[in-house]
Amino acid sequence: MKFRLIYPKWAKLSGQTEFHLPPHGPVVFAATLPAGIDVDFVDENVEALSFDDPVDFVGISMMLTSQVKRGWSIADEYRKRGVKVIFGGIATMLHAEETQAHADAVFLGEAEGRMEQVFADLRAGALKPTYDFLDDPAPTELVGPARRSILRRELYNYKGVRMVDLFHASRGCRFNCYPCAVNYLGGRRFRPRPFDRVVEELAGIDNNRLFIVDNSLAQSKQWELDLFREMIPLKKKWCSHPIEDDDQVLDLAAQAGAWYVYQAVFDTSDFIRKRIERYHAYGIAVEGTILLGLDEQTEDDIKRLVDFLLEIKLDLAEFTVLTPFPHTRSRDDLVKEGRILSSDWDLYTADHVVFQPRHMTPDRLLELYHFAWETFYKDEPQTYKMYKLLQKVVSKEMADGTFVPRRGDLADKRFGRVAEATKP
Ligand code: SF4
Repeated sequence: MKFRLIYPKWAKLSGQTEFHLPPHGPVVFAATLPAGIDVDFVDENVEALSFDDPVDFVGISMMLTSQVKRGWSIADEYRKRGVKVIFGGIATMLHAEETQAHADAVFLGEAEGRMEQVFADLRAGALKPTYDFLDDPAPTELVGPARRSILRRELYNYKGVRMVDLFHASRGCRFNCYPCAVNYLGGRRFRPRPFDRVVEELAGIDNNRLFIVDNSLAQSKQWELDLFREMIPLKKKWCSHPIEDDDQVLDLAAQAGAWYVYQAVFDTSDFIRKRIERYHAYGIAVEGTILLGLDEQTEDDIKRLVDFLLEIKLDLAEFTVLTPFPHTRSRDDLVKEGRILSSDWDLYTADHVVFQPRHMTPDRLLELYHFAWETFYKDEPQTYKMYKLLQKVVSKEMADGTFVPRRGDLADKRFGRVAEATKP
């Protein structure tokens, strides 16, 4: 059976340098397919989708709210041609009811151990409209190595530099941050994968550079210590979401190849300043994730925050506008207060203002969003800061003998010229 798995395209953040990472959800999902299924993956962000290719069944994997309208229109086109369509992924869970109208089946929850039944139902002509496992997460022992062989790897490069591969060592999150839907999606339970499976998968990835996409690594000190000890011999280099602010943890993380972290910067406090200083002290770079438009932020607060980011020498910064995604506390509050201005999901890209801010007009918030990107990257353009980050990983790799020169890497004069051209 020919199964086409599709990852719909979406508009990237304005202000950000455009590059594409190999997606994670589809490769994790592909590993759950029963034997004998011939899977053909199309990532619309990097290649064109042809509706004329012969396929027996279509799966649409959606991670972001800004993918759903495109996902629905792809499904409508296939269904017009008599091909059945199933949806899955995070954004399908967040938009389950609306998606149902465009689907033969909607799969909610984690797919491990469940796809045999779905394909048996399809073959029997008895596909169910909904497979709902939202309240019944799969045992993490069942999560095998992601099936990265479905990716056309050559499509994921930036100026010749190979992009990181995505990987996860745990699911769930014990925190419950205000604008986040993870609580709804994965429950509030931290669920680590067994270390032997983690190491098996890491060792099999043909890329020394990874993005560990776990929601947050800072969920259990003992687990972080154990994970990093297991990772040291593999000599991978990686970025991740936050790591616990603890000397022993940071030290082991650095030894295990921590390259940079994404760290939310929400104010100009000493707490944040010290947090960033301590990552830097262990040789770990920081990309700040900065949310603009929170109720407590005034115009002056946003301007001060941008100055502060430069002062604390963040290596990179990614600014987004608060976006009230479904199943978040932020949306519940804004709905109650009548402050949602648009529910056009194509605008939920985190660079549009779709709600009424408390202290300014929507237009002013949008101006400040652009001001933040421009000001932070005024003296050192984003491409140059990215080049500096790449320099860091190359020197770590050279130090432990894992550097593999590829077209575009620092050892290549052509990338050197790109870097020269983007220097301030
Ligand atoms: S923002 Fe991150 S740490 Fe907070 S609840 Fe969501 S996944 Fe967990």
